[in-house]
Amino acid sequence: MAESAPVIVWFRQDLRLTDNPALDAAVRQGAPVLPIYILDDENAAEWKMGAASRWWLHHSLEQLNASLRDSLRFFRGDATTILPELVDKVQAQGVYWNRRYEPWRIARDTRIKEMLQRDSVPVKSYNGSLLFEPPNTTKADGTPYRVFTPFYRKGCLQNGIPPRKPLPAPNDVALCTVDAGLSLDELELMPEINWYKHMSATWSPGEDGAARRLQQFLQSGINHYDEGRNRPDQNYVSRLSPHLHFGELSPNQPWFAVYDAMAGEELTPDADRFLSELGWREFSNNLLYNEPTLPAKNLQRKFDRFPWIQDEESLRRWQHGQTGYPIVDAGMRELWRTGYMHNRVRMIVGSFLVKNLLQHWHHGARWFWDTLVDADLANNSASWQWIAGCGADAAPYFRIFNPVTQGKKFDPDGHYVRLYVPELAAMPDKFIHNPWEAPAEVLSESGVLLGDDYPEPVVDLKSSRERALAAFKSLSPSSS
Ligand SMILES: Cc1cc2nc3c(=O)[nH]c(=O)nc-3n(C[C@H](O)[C@H](O)[C@H](O)COP(=O)(O)OP(=O)(O)OC[C@H]3O[C@@H](n4cnc5c(N)ncnc54)[C@H](O)[C@@H]3O)c2cc1C
Repeated sequence: MAESAPVIVWFRQDLRLTDNPALDAAVRQGAPVLPIYILDDENAAEWKMGAASRWWLHHSLEQLNASLRDSLRFFRGDATTILPELVDKVQAQGVYWNRRYEPWRIARDTRIKEMLQRDSVPVKSYNGSLLFEPPNTTKADGTPYRVFTPFYRKGCLQNGIPPRKPLPAPNDVALCTVDAGLSLDELELMPEINWYKHMSATWSPGEDGAARRLQQFLQSGINHYDEGRNRPDQNYVSRLSPHLHFGELSPNQPWFAVYDAMAGEELTPDADRFLSELGWREFSNNLLYNEPTLPAKNLQRKFDRFPWIQDEESLRRWQHGQTGYPIVDAGMRELWRTGYMHNRVRMIVGSFLVKNLLQHWHHGARWFWDTLVDADLANNSASWQWIAGCGADAAPYFRIFNPVTQGKKFDPDGHYVRLYVPELAAMPDKFIHNPWEAPAEVLSESGVLLGDDYPEPVVDLKSSRERALAAFKSLSPSSS
């Protein structure tokens, strides 16, 4: 092996230099570092990234490449072929990466590891995306937790393996490059049509943008988080999810930043709540690791018999924010414009789809997969199963969110609805969440002709709720 043979650092969903254990280890090795990215749609198959994620990825890679002084090499295709060929070409003295927990990635990475190790190429993998890795979070009897609170409190916080303190970005990476691969543009991540104008105005993908977002949240969000996180009309959530998903910051960074901000004092309820939300991300990843069929199959198998209905028209209206329920439509339009939706509203639109419209949660998960900039196989699948009532530690099926009551409670002045459903902007607060109940003169003064400017409700809340409860009841053994 030549003295200057490089170590390949395979960037995946860890698009950062700070707190990147694989990069850190490669730099410590003292060999030149060859950084690469492989867009592997072939192994991802049905879980290849959706359009919004691709837009984000393009920009994030652009920034990472700049941080790596233009040395990042891009490849597209099956990593099980590309990586061994590259190792051979550059006579790499090792391949380092940070682990991921999607079933397709585990299968692929295991194959690659075996192939390279057969050729005596050292492969080292690290934990770069979780605070508490799945094998260390089981119950005393070795089985995985299925309920969040004991998982988080016992399986994570008391498991005796505290999260790693963030590693600093390496001072000086000895980079090398190779005459192979594609340009970033040749990955063809950017859509041909510019539908992403609002996304560009909303987000700053990349490690710097992630660091700025975290600082903003620590300054103005976290002290109101416990209550404020439920308010889509206010600005108290972190909006770190796409940055965390693409690994532009590790969960360890916000985790320890919060502890640092506490300066040794006991966690405030706001801080404690925020850390436990990061815990939900851990929980989803643990579920996916232990239940690889989570994206496709109901965790509670009795839901396999659930009488979902097929209704293209109501699905289309839900997707396009035309249900006639303002908070639902605002959420779906926020998603379409920005690639993001506030968590409270994700729960409302999710419940509306699976319960009021009685559509399979797969339809919702798929639409989110394509449109969210934070689309994440673990969080998305676990959350949709939670909403549908068929998941681990799920919301009970009979908990059906009423979009009017939810709207009045969490968007009391209608700011959120007015922002995303501007045709209702002039409606008085009293009817902003229920325009069909407004007297004719109120509608007319607000310039709204229902069924013309804004749709009539796609379903009746009371009867669709009863239909959902009856469908759920049909699953109980006594009714079969
Ligand atoms: C139907 C549905 C689908 C969802 N799909 C996704 C998805 O594809 N990707 C995704 O990252 N989140 C998903 N979530 C979870 C949650 O809505 C988002 O993580 C959150 O809204 C992101 O906004 P934030 O960063 O401002 O969150 P904050 O409230 O600031 O929370 C901080 C971080 O904690 C994590 N987190 C917070 N809530 C949850 C949760 N319920 N489950 C798992 N992790 C959580 C996220 O990483 C988030 O960035 C989904 C929720 C629902 C109800």
